[in-house]
Amino acid sequence: MAQGVHPFRRGPATGRRIAVVGAGPAGLAAAHRLAAKGHDVVLYDARPKPGGLNEYGIASYKAVDHFAAREVEWLLGIGGIERRLGQVLGRDITLASLRDGYDAVFLGLGLQGVNALGAEGEARAHVADAVDFIRDLRQAADLATLPVGRDVVVIGGGMTAVDAAVQARLLGAQNVTIVYRRDQARMAASRHEQDHATHCGVRIICNAAPLRVLGNGAVREVEFMYTRQGPLGLEDTGERFRLPCDQLLRAIGQRLQGDTGGLAVSGGKIVTEGPGRTSVPGVWAGGDCALGGDDLTVTAVAEGRARPKTSTPR
Ligand SMILES: Cc1cc2nc3c(=O)[nH]c(=O)nc-3n(C[C@H](O)[C@H](O)[C@H](O)COP(=O)(O)OP(=O)(O)OC[C@H]3O[C@@H](n4cnc5c(N)ncnc54)[C@H](O)[C@@H]3O)c2cc1C
Repeated sequence: MAQGVHPFRRGPATGRRIAVVGAGPAGLAAAHRLAAKGHDVVLYDARPKPGGLNEYGIASYKAVDHFAAREVEWLLGIGGIERRLGQVLGRDITLASLRDGYDAVFLGLGLQGVNALGAEGEARAHVADAVDFIRDLRQAADLATLPVGRDVVVIGGGMTAVDAAVQARLLGAQNVTIVYRRDQARMAASRHEQDHATHCGVRIICNAAPLRVLGNGAVREVEFMYTRQGPLGLEDTGERFRLPCDQLLRAIGQRLQGDTGGLAVSGGKIVTEGPGRTSVPGVWAGGDCALGGDDLTVTAVAEGRARPKTSTPR
């Protein structure tokens, strides 16, 4: 990228057209690889900007200087990829129409839905999804306009929880606490990320789960139960504690959202076989939306690039 030269060349034109839905790491990798093979690619995304979570999700301190946008422009420099943004699968386009209009379809939809806490009073004001908090932060023209609490509590144990907590702290929150329901060794965030959070002044409480979100209209306190691992799963120890809280962020996992056009889905993800073949002929999927693999950028890119070994596009 620094040299301003695109190191890949397109192969001879195949005359095949492929639709890629989702311009996140998985879809971009697929589009680039398909273009390199000489196919013509149309890249759809629901949002006004491409990049997926690189653009809208990963905390700003991890991807500075508009890196995600610059990387997309560099990547599309290969040619042969037409982008159609603001196009939602299930609203503006359907899987059936894509299957009719293209030789193959690749889905890199990511996970757009966020799991609920299941705690009483969760609908109170200033309770939000951590990914939305980070998205607003990433897209804010003026960070001073972004509401950040004084006592921020983040529920979860993964990278989203760490990113949201660290961002809240960097934006001036006085007390930021991550509360995770299992023990520290089971947190999905790596030890490195946990240490980064604590070095930034974030407190991590493990073995605790939220029971009630308290407050008059807006959240003021959260009540937790201490948990322990029992033979049948997590158990309530009977012990309770409360944390003052004026901003509660949920970071307890994401799931597939919307119409999946008759594709087989299991555990909230698209079922794939081998290198990403779905239950519908001519449709492949990869990245976070596909079953199996880590929900990581590098995995999404690898799954987007992987070429089916046993079958070729229709
Ligand atoms: C807060 C946070 C921090 C993270 N930190 C890291 C990290 O440090 N390192 C790391 O490796 N990974 C990290 N991850 C995970 C990483 O971001 C994901 O694994 C990766 O972005 C997955 O890529 P993807 O292409 O599968 O999906 P996404 O990046 O989610 O992209 C999916 C794209 O599909 C589009 N789309 C969705 N539905 C539709 C539809 N119906 N119609 C049209 N378009 C649609 C979306 O708009 C989006 O552009 C983090 C995730 C989060 C949320």
